[in-house]
Amino acid sequence: MQPPDSPDAPRFAPPLSGAPSREELRARLRALALSEPPRELAVGACCYEVASNDETEDHLCPTCGARTTYPRFTVEFVREARARLREVRGLRVELDERGFCGRCSRGEPDRRLDLVLHLPGETAPRRVADVQPRDLVLLAEFLSGLAKHRDGHDESPLKDHLPRLRQLLGLEP
Ligand SMILES: [Zn+2]
Repeated sequence: MQPPDSPDAPRFAPPLSGAPSREELRARLRALALSEPPRELAVGACCYEVASNDETEDHLCPTCGARTTYPRFTVEFVREARARLREVRGLRVELDERGFCGRCSRGEPDRRLDLVLHLPGETAPRRVADVQPRDLVLLAEFLSGLAKHRDGHDESPLKDHLPRLRQLLGLEP
């Protein structure tokens, strides 16, 4: 299987160069909506390793530095999201992990991961509540102009995910 971002991967648009404006993001959403879906899609076996429930690990809060103990798979979820976030290029994005922090939550953490986006020309950042690592993969693929979404070994047309992409960008029609 070719790497997701190889030069000959099918694209609906060229990769983003520089920070896009809202209008450019809207134009890009339109281009994806109007594009032909890719013809060949891989379907693979499920390949997730399931971490054992009794192992624990501390989540280290990037906001306040407090540690909160979780089953390991919960911390792996956050780690996966951080790794996927680094692949989002062209937009200023951050994760708000306070929902995983016992101190920032002041009580029972709701284990909610929020995405904070800074769009050019906007003073206030946008906030999208309750994101998954998969959402960050969608954003990275969209900004790279890739026509396919890759989920493990499974591929689907990126345009099938337009409603979620619009929510993630705060650009719903
Ligand atoms: Zn905290």
